Amino acid sequence: MTEKMLKFVDLNLETPKKRDANKRLDDFKEIYDEFINEKAKEQSSRCSQCGVPFCQVHCPLHNNIPDWLKLAAENRLQEASELAHSTNNMPEVCGRICPQDRLCEGNCVIEQSGHGTVTIGSIEKYITDTAWEKGWIKPLKIPREINQSVGIIGAGPAGLACAEELRKLGYKITIYDRYDRPGGLLIYGIPNFKLEKFVVERRTKLLKDSGIKFVQNTEIGRDKSLKELKEIHDAILIATGVYKPRGVNLPGNNLNNIFPAMEFLTASNRKGLGDKIEKFDNGTLNAENKHVVVVGGGDTAMDCVRTAVRQNAKSVKCLYRRDKKNMPGSAREVFNAEEEGVEFIWQSNPKKFIGNEKISSVLVEKMKLGEPDSSGRKRPEPIKGSDFEIEADILIKALGFDPEDIPYLFKNPNLQVSKWGTIKINFQSMETSIEGVFAAGDIVRGASLVVWAIKDGREAAIAIDKHLKFKQLKKTEAA
Ligand SMILES: Cc1cc2nc3c(=O)[nH]c(=O)nc-3n(C[C@H](O)[C@H](O)[C@H](O)COP(=O)(O)OP(=O)(O)OC[C@H]3O[C@@H](n4cnc5c(N)ncnc54)[C@H](O)[C@@H]3O)c2cc1C
Ligand code: SF4
Repeated sequence: MTEKMLKFVDLNLETPKKRDANKRLDDFKEIYDEFINEKAKEQSSRCSQCGVPFCQVHCPLHNNIPDWLKLAAENRLQEASELAHSTNNMPEVCGRICPQDRLCEGNCVIEQSGHGTVTIGSIEKYITDTAWEKGWIKPLKIPREINQSVGIIGAGPAGLACAEELRKLGYKITIYDRYDRPGGLLIYGIPNFKLEKFVVERRTKLLKDSGIKFVQNTEIGRDKSLKELKEIHDAILIATGVYKPRGVNLPGNNLNNIFPAMEFLTASNRKGLGDKIEKFDNGTLNAENKHVVVVGGGDTAMDCVRTAVRQNAKSVKCLYRRDKKNMPGSAREVFNAEEEGVEFIWQSNPKKFIGNEKISSVLVEKMKLGEPDSSGRKRPEPIKGSDFEIEADILIKALGFDPEDIPYLFKNPNLQVSKWGTIKINFQSMETSIEGVFAAGDIVRGASLVVWAIKDGREAAIAIDKHLKFKQLKKTEAA
């Protein structure tokens, strides 16, 4: 604890009732921020500059981590921020929500020698948040606008990163999105307690102020066709993400109060953004005072259980068919959920949803882990006669996402997809089976991570620039 923090505690003990509550909060925030900043500086100087930057190798963006840690340790934060931005369009977002334990921090040499990782993510957040606070992050100034335009479908991290990179080069950019706000899963999927919405909004505002045009509430395939976009723009990027929820079709599936994860999370995020959400206000999608059961073991399931805790649920249980060791979600998130009081029922599967109109309980069967399947993970098998019932006022299915049928939605059967429904691209050119149409992010990889979507968006920008330059050259030659 810093000296200033101790002083605050003393003052607080001396005259607790006389002090104005807001003033105390302000004091605390100031001291807490200073404490965090000091921690970040202290952490930056822990980097041994080992010369074998495994952290950098295992960061999908290959961020120059050792160099910005060094700059941060020397308090050269503006230079550190510029360096962080040279490889990443949203360092403060990644700093907050990357699963660092599996990426940069998990490969820190200090961590591997048993001394605890340098907290790279929180330093990345600290550097970039400081840059925002100090006004160092400014809209792009385009020296010369190029008379070629790119239409981007999807305002998630892949679309936004691609838009920014192409705008830097001078292209005219329009982003179309079916939601009313840009940000994709950053705005309506990931909860505010992991990624505050103002962090996303200030990024999208920066892009608007940089001359990128946003066309919201416009679903391609319904409100505008891909063909129309192709006529308006010189190149197209599809960055539509994956949204079709995987289901479990069990007896009782049609009972009320059984929701897919995104419906529950979107309502909560919209509420936090100040929207009027009838289904939340009338209690349907609000976990307050309810027994909540979440089925699934990934990060989306963790977001659902932790959101339910914050809505003051009576109890929150998570059913997962394998054991803790085999959970697909981040270990850090499971730890957080456990600490917040979520009860995990490992090796369990729902068998039947029970209730009269509304769900009231779930029949659950216990599982054992059998022989490994084709993925190498042990296959869960039901244990006969192990059924038991748990109370449930709300059941949330968080079993992952598949791509929507994009060729059908876009009315373009020539758009080739993989057997999983993800869009096929040529990985050299990032082009789809349709000339001049590119794709990036989850719609190519399947459900993944923000940092990978940013990487794909940046690579798509390089590929689109190449394509447009070649197109322009051919036009000039023909003239
Ligand atoms: C609940 C949840 C929590 C997550 N937590 C994390 C986390 O902590 N860390 C992490 O790294 N990753 C996390 N992820 C994954 C991460 O959010 C995604 O990998 C990432 O957002 C993918 O980016 P994207 O740009 O490809 O797609 P998205 O972010 O999904 O954006 C796609 C955009 O396309 C728009 N769109 C779709 N179809 C159309 C159409 N036909 N016309 C117009 N617009 C369209 C959508 O409205 C959306 O805005 C989480 C995902 C979920 C669901
Ligand atoms: S982008 Fe993610 S993986 Fe890369 S340094 Fe930042 S937190 Fe680590």
